[in-house]
Amino acid sequence: MPELPEVETIVRGLAKVIVGQKIISLKTTALKGDKIIIEDIKTSSNLPSIVGGVKKKFISAVIGSTIKGINRRGKSIIIELSGGHSLIVHLKMTGQLIYTDSSDKVIKHTHLIFNLSDGKELRYVDVRRFGYIKIFPSENIFLEHPLDTLGHEPIEIKIGELRELLSNHKIRMKSFLLNQSFMSGIGNIYADEILHRSHMHPLKISSNLSGKETAKLHKMIKEVLREAIEHRGSTIRDYVTSTGEAGDFQKMHRVYNKEGKPCRCCQGKIIKIRAGGRSTFFCPACQPIDDK
Ligand SMILES: [Zn+2]
Repeated sequence: MPELPEVETIVRGLAKVIVGQKIISLKTTALKGDKIIIEDIKTSSNLPSIVGGVKKKFISAVIGSTIKGINRRGKSIIIELSGGHSLIVHLKMTGQLIYTDSSDKVIKHTHLIFNLSDGKELRYVDVRRFGYIKIFPSENIFLEHPLDTLGHEPIEIKIGELRELLSNHKIRMKSFLLNQSFMSGIGNIYADEILHRSHMHPLKISSNLSGKETAKLHKMIKEVLREAIEHRGSTIRDYVTSTGEAGDFQKMHRVYNKEGKPCRCCQGKIIKIRAGGRSTFFCPACQPIDDK
């Protein structure tokens, strides 16, 4: 699933090219045998299933509107339109948002195409279709799910805020970092990378962190996410940037998906356990457990 650095990379890429553009028309695709048929969306009868929110407003609010801005909150993308509506885009497992020439081949699993006033297109592609594009009035957008439940932005969180969250919850550190209502945007990859750089066991209990450990964690959350954004995120499977390119940060991963490989700090073996309901990779030598 794209996490904060991947979504931030997409938003930064799109901000340069789609803001100020008018949405001329909408299209979707249908499969006829092996052929991909491109269809105009003129009524709600062929709105793709990935569209949600106030669906009956979708066509009238989107077509003819101008894109006023694009931002990120947690792993969600917010596209503000003229006319008072905004779109929340969540890529979930395999969603992609790609800005491309209208002459480029439309691939399978392209659910929605925005035709833009510069003659190019913004395409939403999603193989597994867990992602969505929802429309809501802009004035209450932060009251809509999932924006309403999101915690601090991890790149901006202050050490006092982190300390408070840690001491108010008695949960394993892997689960702590994955909890979107504490901090939003960190998923499985970056949780493991942050814990390794913090020399912290994934099963350590949040309320047991010392002041020194909290300071280290605070620093590493920002360091890992900033480096990942600089490298345009991590491409493990489906993630691509808004121009369809892979990210680079997977080359810098120290533990994620590296079971049995040597730790680059101590040469010990990286192991895999289950924590927070997810596969969790860590180095037992660099990340010892001192509480249970
Ligand atoms: Zn190690």
